[in-house]
Amino acid sequence: MKRFFYAGSLAAALAAGACLLGGCGGEEPAGAPPAPAAEAAAETPAKDPSVPRGQAAVHRGPDVKYSVPEGVSVLMYHMIGSETDNSAIMSAENLRWQMEYLRDHGYHPITMQELADYVTKEAPLPSKPVCITFDDGYEDNYTIVYPLMKEFGFPWTVFVITGSVGQPNRMTWDQLAEMADSQTVTIASHTVTHPRLHNLPPDEVKREIVGAQQALKEHLGIDNPWIAYPYGDYDETVDAIAKAAGIRLAVTTDAGRVHAGSYPYELKRVWIGNEVTESHYAERLTQDDYAII
Ligand SMILES: [Zn+2]
Repeated sequence: MKRFFYAGSLAAALAAGACLLGGCGGEEPAGAPPAPAAEAAAETPAKDPSVPRGQAAVHRGPDVKYSVPEGVSVLMYHMIGSETDNSAIMSAENLRWQMEYLRDHGYHPITMQELADYVTKEAPLPSKPVCITFDDGYEDNYTIVYPLMKEFGFPWTVFVITGSVGQPNRMTWDQLAEMADSQTVTIASHTVTHPRLHNLPPDEVKREIVGAQQALKEHLGIDNPWIAYPYGDYDETVDAIAKAAGIRLAVTTDAGRVHAGSYPYELKRVWIGNEVTESHYAERLTQDDYAII
C-alpha cells in the first residue's frame, strides 16, 4: 500500500525540486515567486512510478487504519450542471457539499484497483471507504470534477464512451490525456457507442468492448482493466467478452453496495441524483438497504 510521507521542510523539498503533499498549495515561503494559479489551487503530490498510466494514485496519511469492511458504496454520478429537470444532472454546489461531507466525516475514497483487491482478495481498505465514479465522459468532468477532486485529494474514476470523445459537451482526448497523466483520476471504458450490450450479437459486443480498449490504448496509452456497462445492461456473454478483453472489474447500474466476494463482473452501484439530501447521502454510504428515492 502506497502512503505519502511528509516533507520535513517545505523549503528543503522545493530546493530538492520535489513538490510533496503537505507543502504545495499551502503556505508559500517568504520571497518565493508566486505559483501559477492553476497549481496554487491544489496540492500536487509527487508522481508514483508504480501506478499504471491512467490510474489514480492514493496519498493517505500514516494514521489511516485499514481493515476489511462489511461493504463499500460505489457512488455513481454522471453530468454536472444547473438543469433541474433531470435528476442525473448534479449541481456543482451539491457535488461540493457531498465531497465536504466525505472529508468531514472521515471517508476515504478508494481507487478501482483497491476496489478490485477488496472484491477479489478481501484486501483491507482504509476506514470508511467509498468509491467515486462518473459515467459517460461529459466535459464538466474535466472543467468541474477534475479540479474539485484534486482540491479534496480524492481519487475517482470516469467511464468514457470512447466514440463520443471530442463531441459537443464531451471531453476531448487532449483533456483526457492531461487527466491520465495526473494520477488523480482513473480513466476507464464505457464502450465505444453506449449500446445496450445484451441485445447485441456477440461480435458487436466484442467491437464495443475491444474497440474501447483499443481507443484508450491508442489515444492515452492506457491498458484498461475496468468497464461500466451502459444502462447497466449485461449478461454472461457480455461478461465473458469483457474478461477476454482484459477487463478485471465491471460495474453496473444495479442498486446496492459491493462486498468482499461480490462477482467482479456485475458490481452494483449507488445512484446519486441531484435530489439526494444529506440524510439520503449518509444512508447510501453505509447501508445495503438504503431508501430508493
Ligand atoms: Zn452511460
